[in-house]
Amino acid sequence: MFDVIIIGAGPTGCTAARELACNGYKVLLIEKFKMPRNKSCSGILIKKSMNLVRQYFGEDAPDFTMCAPTDNRGMIFTSDKGHEYRFEQEGLNIWRSSFDYWLATKAAETGAELRDGTTALSCEEQENYVLVNLKGTSFYSEKAKIVILCDGVVGSVKRKLVHAPQRYITTYQTFNKGSIDLDHHYFYAYLQPHLSEYDAWFNVKDGYLIFGVSVKDTSKLENYYSEFIAYMGKHHNAKIEKQEKTEKWLMPHIMSGCPIEYGNGKVLFAGETAGFLNPMGEGISAGMESGYAAAKAIEEIDLNSDIDMVELYTFYQNNTFALKNYMERQWNFVANMSETFNYMKL
Ligand SMILES: Cc1cc2nc3c(=O)[nH]c(=O)nc-3n(C[C@H](O)[C@H](O)[C@H](O)COP(=O)(O)OP(=O)(O)OC[C@H]3O[C@@H](n4cnc5c(N)ncnc54)[C@H](O)[C@@H]3O)c2cc1C
Repeated sequence: MFDVIIIGAGPTGCTAARELACNGYKVLLIEKFKMPRNKSCSGILIKKSMNLVRQYFGEDAPDFTMCAPTDNRGMIFTSDKGHEYRFEQEGLNIWRSSFDYWLATKAAETGAELRDGTTALSCEEQENYVLVNLKGTSFYSEKAKIVILCDGVVGSVKRKLVHAPQRYITTYQTFNKGSIDLDHHYFYAYLQPHLSEYDAWFNVKDGYLIFGVSVKDTSKLENYYSEFIAYMGKHHNAKIEKQEKTEKWLMPHIMSGCPIEYGNGKVLFAGETAGFLNPMGEGISAGMESGYAAAKAIEEIDLNSDIDMVELYTFYQNNTFALKNYMERQWNFVANMSETFNYMKL
């Protein structure tokens, strides 16, 4: 019997695993893919994420997780009216495969058992424990007093527990060789409605020019992407010589009020699974903060007697109160730059 099984070794799961293992809990961290695994992401650690890495993992992200240009100097937004807003801020440019691998290694170093290449199929709550059904090289189960589900937006375990429809944004980004007349140290987001149904973006990683668009309706993806490439050619002299890779992914579609699903019985939800995500897809800090908050809530209750579920959820909600407020303020802020976002305004 594990004290806590954590499903998903992204920033959320690794933070929760490390925090609990550091405090003597018997922790199993399950990851579907063999680590290091890819996660579609722009890979910008904003200042807040950098501080959380230091706070939760005791050191800064190491050099091998970085890509060029290493220092991200902030974000430049173009509003739906075409006005440019610059947000200068210290940040880092990382590859998620090596960053998440490092986080998982740090969690394992503190005593969490990392079982990668293992898929969680479902969670069944029994009287005194949760049965987690798994598939590695064979089908089997493990038991835990509590589960933290951090399987991200593409995770399927939650859909078996909560039957409410989930809403997604589809993201599409391409990795290209070529040239552009924009400073590679910034992340650029474009909110004009003819370029995407949410946002379009540009950034640079290890010499790849990355262009992305996000849509609600996937049938419109190609049109928006072509519009965006034409726009970048016209306004920033973008020239693509060779497209080397494409990635399609999902993001939770966060609505007005930033609703959060905290869990279902003894299965707590954290990170994107719960709906923790900041505007324009900045989710690494929200993931880490919510994973830590879930772990702290577990530490505040007594796992060795009947678990007081009201107390557990109250602690978890209180621990994420500031994070949820931050998300709401950020969504409000972006809404002021774009009519598309405005309907999400609080
Ligand atoms: C295109 C794009 C760009 C982004 N850019 C940024 C950015 O620059 N900065 C930023 O901060 N955020 C960014 N984000 C958001 C960020 O990537 C996510 O918010 C963040 O990864 C969420 O962390 P998580 O740990 O909750 O989930 P994830 O990172 O998705 O981790 C979930 C893990 O669970 C595993 N898993 C899934 N199902 C199972 C299962 N059944 N059993 C076991 N394991 C399972 C997955 O393999 C994965 O490893 C971006 C997102 C997208 C789509």
